[in-house]
Amino acid sequence: MKRMILRGGRVIDPASNTDATLDVLIADGAIAEIGSSIDAADATEIDVSGLVVAPGLVDIHVHLREPGREDEETIASGTHAAVHGGVTTVAAMPNTEPAIDDPSWVEYVRARGREATVHPIAAITMGREGKTLTGMAELEAAGAVAFSDDGCSVLSANVMRRALEYASMVGRPVIAHCEDPALVGHGVMHEGLASTRAGLRPIPAAAEEVMVARDIILAADTGARLHIAHVSTAGSVELVRRAKADGVPVTCETCPHYFSLTDDDVRSYDTSLRVNPPLRTSADVVAIMEGLADGTIDAIASDHAPHSLEEKQVEFDAAPPGMIGLETLLPVTLTHLVHSGAMTLPAALGLLTSGPARALDIPGGTLEVGVQADIVVFDPNTEWTVGADWFRSKSRNSPFVGRTLTGRVRMTISRGRIVFEEESHDEGCSGGGCGSGNAERDELAVNV
Ligand SMILES: [Zn+2]
Repeated sequence: MKRMILRGGRVIDPASNTDATLDVLIADGAIAEIGSSIDAADATEIDVSGLVVAPGLVDIHVHLREPGREDEETIASGTHAAVHGGVTTVAAMPNTEPAIDDPSWVEYVRARGREATVHPIAAITMGREGKTLTGMAELEAAGAVAFSDDGCSVLSANVMRRALEYASMVGRPVIAHCEDPALVGHGVMHEGLASTRAGLRPIPAAAEEVMVARDIILAADTGARLHIAHVSTAGSVELVRRAKADGVPVTCETCPHYFSLTDDDVRSYDTSLRVNPPLRTSADVVAIMEGLADGTIDAIASDHAPHSLEEKQVEFDAAPPGMIGLETLLPVTLTHLVHSGAMTLPAALGLLTSGPARALDIPGGTLEVGVQADIVVFDPNTEWTVGADWFRSKSRNSPFVGRTLTGRVRMTISRGRIVFEEESHDEGCSGGGCGSGNAERDELAVNV
């Protein structure tokens, strides 16, 4: 197999505390060498000077919609979108139609990851109905990396407790979607001043926090690994912080929209902003950022949730919850965590690579010599405006359309193969958002 060398980039590998100008040699689909001025005469040279070279991003919360809603996304279109966003490893949620509660479906999902590696998450209960546990040993043997009824909480504490016990026996975490349906009711946005002003039915922060507290208690009780999905409130961050201090085996993630948007944004009634849990207040955003900075929050995941235009072109209350996020994961993180001064670039990248890989105990998220060559090359400083036509996902429900972000993926390498490379005049320009950094960007793109 042909060798390839990424020459002169700023190599950042949070797992090994690497941050230096180095070359990366790729051979036989794996990382062969990292060093200064590597001599590799036979290798294809790629000049990445001025760009960041990091491990391919690991997104542990993705809805690929296949089987069942192939009009919204397929495993092929979802992974095509993933590598456009620099994501090379995806954990796929099981709330498909049918739910992934059978080993044959686990194998089906896993086998269809082409451009990116897909790790299936299997359901906790049959049909995600919250009643009968799935056959976790068989699901794990087929390739399930975790168990989740994401989309809803497991209502019965008894079922959840047994789920934690069984998952722990097969050595895999349970991922909890924490929302008490009785407290959510028919709510569609965060309860507060903004919901009163908008005249929309509210969801209190407590709807999330009571379930976070319950599941932490059950994790402490069973000693089983619990991962809390999409933490969105200050109260949840504090509950996880205390649980970790007490030695409870809990990890958690948040999503870019919980540190970049607030309930005030819902004033626009843009149905892309309808999401579960809902967008919170600016005080919650501050708490989420603190949780990311102090290690309480282990990972940033997109909760990529494609929905068709017909489903989202309705009144705010009638729209299904969810927004796409695979492709904006990196630029939103760079814009709101790094360029805002809240975190360093290596620390933020840790939350997108080694952090999520560790939380689910899956491969990837590092540039260690010998591992599969999954790499993202990006320009951290380019400003650009997100155009609706820029996305590769089958769906368009992104609240970031029309917004200006800083940082852009130039190239994605998956298993040693270039699966995305930005053209010198890319499709992102069609949205009219090229702006002033145009000449500079074209020059960089040509170098890549
Ligand atoms: Zn969820």
